[in-house]
Amino acid sequence: MSATTSDETGRRSRLQAVTVGRLLANLLLLVYLSTLGTDLLDPAGVALLRAVAAVHLAVNGLALLTPRRLPALAFATEATVLTDAAAIAVLVAVTGGVASPLTWLLFAEAVAVTLVFGWNGGVRAAAMLTLALVWIHRATPVALPDAIDALGDRDGSLALALSPDLRVVWLGLGMWAVTALVGFLNGVAERDLRNWLTDLNMLRQVTRELDPRLGVDRVCDTLATTMVDRLGYRGAVVWMMRDVRLHPVAQAGRGGVDAVGEAAELSTVVAPLADAVQRHGVTLVRRSEARPGPLQRVHGPGAPLVLLSLHAEGRLLAVVSAEVPRPLFGRPSLRGSELRRLGLLADEASLLLDNARLQAELRALATTDGLTGLPNHRFLQQRLGEEVARVERAAADGERRPLSVALFDLDFFKKVNDTYGHPTGDAVLVAVARAADGLLRTSDVVCRYGGEEFALVFVDADADRAVHACERLREAIRALRITSEDGRDLGTLTASFGVATTIGPGLDRPGLIAAADEALYAAKHAGRDRVMHIDAVDDRLATSTSTPEER
Ligand code: GH3
Ligand code: MG
Ligand code: MG
Repeated sequence: MSATTSDETGRRSRLQAVTVGRLLANLLLLVYLSTLGTDLLDPAGVALLRAVAAVHLAVNGLALLTPRRLPALAFATEATVLTDAAAIAVLVAVTGGVASPLTWLLFAEAVAVTLVFGWNGGVRAAAMLTLALVWIHRATPVALPDAIDALGDRDGSLALALSPDLRVVWLGLGMWAVTALVGFLNGVAERDLRNWLTDLNMLRQVTRELDPRLGVDRVCDTLATTMVDRLGYRGAVVWMMRDVRLHPVAQAGRGGVDAVGEAAELSTVVAPLADAVQRHGVTLVRRSEARPGPLQRVHGPGAPLVLLSLHAEGRLLAVVSAEVPRPLFGRPSLRGSELRRLGLLADEASLLLDNARLQAELRALATTDGLTGLPNHRFLQQRLGEEVARVERAAADGERRPLSVALFDLDFFKKVNDTYGHPTGDAVLVAVARAADGLLRTSDVVCRYGGEEFALVFVDADADRAVHACERLREAIRALRITSEDGRDLGTLTASFGVATTIGPGLDRPGLIAAADEALYAAKHAGRDRVMHIDAVDDRLATSTSTPEER
């Protein structure tokens, strides 16, 4: 639904509500006139009121049928307010003019219209009622019926003390004052509501942008950008809590240019933070206050800062520092609405950041082997898939890039378990994992494939480089010196390696693994403790070997 349509719908339902109210009031008046009215009013007054009530009823009946379009609604609103003023004028005139005990109806109408239709409506109603008042005053005075006369305290009262002219002036002034007061209070409430709506909208946008699935870094980046682009701060830095230090991980806008990289000891920001926690996670660090070093280095010496502390389950997750535009006059301060907005943002960002952190942890857990800390089988499949896709994309561009995969398996490992126990077997697996991890290039990948089998992915490596790397690792495993839990030397450990290489559009992911497995099987059969390689060029599988005898 568009904004205009919802505006029109709101206006129509408000108009309908007041119209129904007016219809009921008119019916009541008619019932009154046909019962008690004749005793209280002179016959001319009763006839006049009957006519007015009938016209008022007809106008309001028509208003109920008004279509939803804005011009028609505006016209109906004006017409009904005008007939209200006319009806009230007649009612007041026939019950004593400006001395009528029903003059309060003028106030009630001004208040009601201001409440329902806002400032503009209220001012127009007050203007119409003022005209009505002038007419009442000028109209031929109606003899006040005795019954009504008896209602008013006319002896020595303030009402009597005032001349009719002064009375009109006071009535008019009072009506305008009430309209202004109600309009002002209404405006304040409305502005507050609008601020809340703006904040909620901002929060909705931020929640959408700070998607925890994008990871902690992206959430921090977006948070810094939000502070600058959406909330108008001049520069913002997000500090993540890691190992009891706050690390600047994201920045936006002015300042903080050299921030990323300079970690701050928590103790240097503890004082303002403690304050922030007390004030719902938001605090202002003024220029005159002692500024902790890292904040000053990042944002410059003069700028007043606002600090948001983000928490999860009572633990400090991160701090956002943002540079507040300096006010033209006076000291910088946080207004209530700004404090509330920042508080809302801090709560939401804490939740999303913690969520992002948990998701990253879960992802890491799902792809990490618990014993060795190496990436696991699942990770291998993902990563190898990505590398194969890269090779295929390059091949489509006419570029032939090599990709090699190796599987290696510890020889006679069952014997290690049987002789020295499983904990010692575990220690061997950890030592082998460390050796492999330390030996390979950072671009290469080592994973625990399962059991005592490991997989290696050599990115951009042809068969020679992959075989050479496997040879070095084979030597490194042989060189490991491990003692069992009870102090016995395990002797020389060996492993068998199978390597497969694809160049350009060749083997796919399962094909590469199968070829490496085939080469590993061949290495085992050829006597273990060796590297065998399968050449997968042109779909021809040719096994070559590097055996201890060759060395
Ligand atoms: P081969 O030279 O033919 O590979 O002989 P092998 O004894 O290594 O034979 P195999 O590969 O069949 O045996 C693997 C053994 O690895 C069996 C299993 O008990 C052991 N193993 C697998 N995972 C773990 C583990 O996490 N910890 C320990 N301690 N042992 C494991
Ligand atoms: Mg084995
Ligand atoms: Mg095995």
